[in-house]
Amino acid sequence: MPSSQWHSDANVSSWLERLGISNSASSTTPWVLCNSDGSLEDVLTNTLSNCTVIALDCEGDKLGRKGGTLSLISLRPLAPKSSTGTTSLIDVLAFPKESSILKRLFSIIESESIQKIVFDGRMDYCAFFYEYGVQMRNVLDMQLADIQSRAARGQSAKTQNQRLFGYLPPNEVSQNRTMYSNVHRLGALSSCLMDHDIDVSPKDIVDHQAWLVRPIEEKHLGYAAHDVELIESVYTVFKRRGFINRSLSEQSQRYITLWSDIQPSDNDVDVFRSHPLLPLDILVQGSPQDTTCGGCRRKLSQGCFPHFQWELFCYVCLAVQAKNRSDSVDSRGTGGRRTPGAKKNRKRKNRRGVQYNDSENEEYDGSSYPSIDLFVDDYLDAGWF
Ligand SMILES: [Zn+2]
Repeated sequence: MPSSQWHSDANVSSWLERLGISNSASSTTPWVLCNSDGSLEDVLTNTLSNCTVIALDCEGDKLGRKGGTLSLISLRPLAPKSSTGTTSLIDVLAFPKESSILKRLFSIIESESIQKIVFDGRMDYCAFFYEYGVQMRNVLDMQLADIQSRAARGQSAKTQNQRLFGYLPPNEVSQNRTMYSNVHRLGALSSCLMDHDIDVSPKDIVDHQAWLVRPIEEKHLGYAAHDVELIESVYTVFKRRGFINRSLSEQSQRYITLWSDIQPSDNDVDVFRSHPLLPLDILVQGSPQDTTCGGCRRKLSQGCFPHFQWELFCYVCLAVQAKNRSDSVDSRGTGGRRTPGAKKNRKRKNRRGVQYNDSENEEYDGSSYPSIDLFVDDYLDAGWF
């Protein structure tokens, strides 16, 4: 069924419902749920077949981790755009794992000629790779573009240091400025939107367990569609402002495949890979990569390590160690009320005065790390810099 008919039929809502297709209340543009061979066939043939650029986002419970489940793939054509601006939401659990139609969908994920635009594609990659044996290729990760845009926007070394506030104590950063000049803090999608003054409604948060419930609630489908629209917004603005450089494809591939040697889980090794810091040798890959870090266990180039160490920890893992030390002191200082893994919630206001929860957790949560704006003002007056 051509998508152009979706909006012209007076009885469109009931007709879409019968096909398992709904219009979203929370997404600003229409979306289509594909949970049958017919509906997925329609999207593959009529919407995605000629696409060269697609925004992609995945939803699931413990997405990409051991024991996790990929639930929904959101795809939004960016080039050429669909005439209706429709986002396709693929209910992966509605199809047998080995079904031929799912394989056709995965051929898009693996395609070298179709570019996927993501925001922090690491867990998306893991979900495809470890659950389905699918390797996502030809990716541009907007989280990396965001980091690189900081220098292009004139960010000083001092500001780069200050971005670590909130993760590390300010005095730890100020006493080791040179060491931390090698460490970049990752921005969540919501903070990226704020940093770049992209005026869209913010990202919603859904309980991950909800992605396993069938039928998926309409409001959750709306959230999923909204997330991929936000990725499109970032991509459009970054492209216009020249923040997507030639190396981004290669850098993104290194970034999303970070866990291709071992699937993420909740064990101790993860502490050195699950944090809001950019892993080393991603933006610029030194050579040879012949030194194994004692923390993240990645093989890295020598420039990733300080010269004075007895035990080889990369700059990022040293920051993680410092964070753990500070947390354990913090925990003792508060009578042990705060333990590793425990959440520290605080309410802040963004530049527009909108209040929201800022949740910090040692357990990786790609959406839980706030932007520099939320912390710097607290410390500038304290005279740390
Ligand atoms: Zn390391």
